[in-house]
Amino acid sequence: MTLQEKLNHYIEKHCLSGAEAARRIGIGQTQVSEIRLHNKYTPLIAERIFKAFGDEFKGFVEYDTCPYCGCQYVRKRSDQRTCLSDECLKKNRVDKAMEYERKVSSGELVKRPYEERRPANKKYLKLPEVKPKVGYAEFNERARSQGLSYGQLQGLERLGLR
Ligand SMILES: [Zn+2]
Repeated sequence: MTLQEKLNHYIEKHCLSGAEAARRIGIGQTQVSEIRLHNKYTPLIAERIFKAFGDEFKGFVEYDTCPYCGCQYVRKRSDQRTCLSDECLKKNRVDKAMEYERKVSSGELVKRPYEERRPANKKYLKLPEVKPKVGYAEFNERARSQGLSYGQLQGLERLGLR
């Protein structure tokens, strides 16, 4: 039996409205409808139903085992890999960083500078590079110190040679 069937059965048996069921479980009415119509739910929702309606729903709760402390946890996000204790989260961050370094040093991954890694969806304002203006006297002095005329240095700078 799916959670969809089980929940529909339970709601009928106890004469609950969708709203009342949602209230008792502690989730939104849309989430209740998603289960009742499409059997769609997250492990966290399954756990809430089990806590609200009891043992007959226990079988739908999916537990993961934390690789660090070995405890059983219910995933709150699809990419969650450890329980949520500070210690295990920290160990996981360290492991991820070490795994990244290993891949980089083995050549499997190329280490990219921050410029390339920064999130693409973020908009960064790019300003043109502005060189401070140099006064005539200062520029003339700079040319003279290089044994050039004002015009010669200007020409070389325009060509990007100075
Ligand atoms: Zn843990």
